[in-house]
Amino acid sequence: MELPAATNEYGPSSEIAETDIIFECPHCAKSLAIDWRGAGLMITCPDCGTRIQVPESDDDHMAAGAGVSIAPLEGQYDVQIRNLSEALNHSREKIRQLMSSLDNTRKRRSSLEKMRVEQLTRMERISAEMAVIQSSLDRVVNLIGEAMLHRGEEGENW
Ligand SMILES: [Zn+2]
Repeated sequence: MELPAATNEYGPSSEIAETDIIFECPHCAKSLAIDWRGAGLMITCPDCGTRIQVPESDDDHMAAGAGVSIAPLEGQYDVQIRNLSEALNHSREKIRQLMSSLDNTRKRRSSLEKMRVEQLTRMERISAEMAVIQSSLDRVVNLIGEAMLHRGEEGENW
């Protein structure tokens, strides 16, 4: 029967299942992880080559294993929380930019509205002035008409 191979050392790159038995080589104190089905089996330590027995997954070892497996899990949560918090900060910054851009748009719109009103007022003033000019022109035309009429009458008298 083939003995299950113990992984060399658990680190961030090695994959350790939650069910794995994690123990130390009694000879070289190397941290080893082995599938839970390898409990009680004799294996060769991959580091020092000593024949060692995999401990049974009793409560002590389970607790030790849990202690080991919880640590990287917490690290993972930390990273997740940091990522979420960064994403949240990013979103907040985005919202702040959008709000500022919205504010600018409002300001621009209100300034455009003001300009429109000013233009309208100017147009009204121009149109009022045009009406004054028009009535002046009408008066001038009338006066010219009257003058020509008088001249005609006078001419007849000449
Ligand atoms: Zn060893």
